[in-house]
Amino acid sequence: MHPSAEPKPRRAENEAPMPPSLPVLEEVRQVQDEMVALRRQIHAQPELGFEEKLTSELVAARLAQWGYEVTRGVGRTGVVGRLKVGHGHRSIGLRADMDALPIEEKSGLPHASRRPGLMHACGHDGHTATLLAAARVLALTRGFSGTLNLIFQPAEEGLGGAQAMLDDGLFERFPCDRLYGFHNSPGAPVGLLGIRSGVVYSSSDTVIITVRGRGGHGAKPHLAVDPIVTASHLVIALQSIVSREIHPNELAIVTVGAFHAGEAPNVIPASAELRLTVRARSEAVRAQLRDRITAMAHAQAAVHGATAEVDYRWRYPVTINDDEATSYLRGVARELVGEEGLIPDWPPGTASDDMGLLLARVPGCYFNVGNGTDERPGEGGCPVHNAGYDFNDRILPSTASLYVRLVQRYLVDG
Ligand SMILES: [Zn+2]
Ligand SMILES: [Zn+2]
Repeated sequence: MHPSAEPKPRRAENEAPMPPSLPVLEEVRQVQDEMVALRRQIHAQPELGFEEKLTSELVAARLAQWGYEVTRGVGRTGVVGRLKVGHGHRSIGLRADMDALPIEEKSGLPHASRRPGLMHACGHDGHTATLLAAARVLALTRGFSGTLNLIFQPAEEGLGGAQAMLDDGLFERFPCDRLYGFHNSPGAPVGLLGIRSGVVYSSSDTVIITVRGRGGHGAKPHLAVDPIVTASHLVIALQSIVSREIHPNELAIVTVGAFHAGEAPNVIPASAELRLTVRARSEAVRAQLRDRITAMAHAQAAVHGATAEVDYRWRYPVTINDDEATSYLRGVARELVGEEGLIPDWPPGTASDDMGLLLARVPGCYFNVGNGTDERPGEGGCPVHNAGYDFNDRILPSTASLYVRLVQRYLVDG
């Protein structure tokens, strides 16, 4: 891209962060500036998974100040805020993730990361601040009867924060009848909602394959067992699993993202390591991929007189939204934003999210909110996990409004 000679039009969203088209409840409007400031404060101090010390402190302090019963240390740095109102028996959980990524921010924005090499490049700062905004308003206005559980999860980015919370008895200690959460989506129009029933994100597993041969002199290959040649055959062989073995209607992804072996041109190393990411949209395909990748690694190694060690890390399941919980959310959303606020036929993603582990335990819905389509800094269209990304503050009040309505509708006097 070449720089434009003309001055860029001045953006007005700092003064008026909300376009009139996104419906915001009056109660949310009153706190939105404060909450946007909070989002930017969290953005400027990103913390990696299980290291969300400042962030969880901030979350816990605010929740306590607003009257929530706060429990810290659920899943190490996780926080749960509970608010019981009236005598209603129903309970609802809302989940936000809090962790950042090891990326050097290049957004150039005034609230950019002040911590070198770390950045909120997935918008978890925005998810956290949006949930805090809803928390604030719900504590002020109440208007429901039942139990509200706000789940601030650590370490979504591959470190297993949801599992850590489950291991600490999340849903035994804080039972929820329904669970909701959202992820922002750059590339989709600002504030529009992508609400989908059934599969919404793929599974994600990591495989480390170590091929062991026999090291030796590069000039004497007949005395060695070359793990590089063996692993190279394996890389090619793995490609046929998706193209030849998985049903063509199914999603399956096998990516070899790393191949490490050797140092010197005249040395055959003793081993080679492959690192794979594997994705699927059904648990059956996920299991099939595991079985075939494992079998192929051993078989290919054997063909070449080598051995293979397969460390298959079963990580995030397919994220599946419950039909009834999804249509309930869609009904509330339609009332708030109208049909034009919903993106029809939101497609399932190839990415993954450990919200899937939580939704495997409690019926609910993980929905998407458009972060914008304009890729200029601060406009929301820059993809997540990119150094130029930023959460779009314009979707904070509208999404918080949806949370508020959802809770007030679901937790009614019963
Ligand atoms: Zn991410
Ligand atoms: Zn994310």
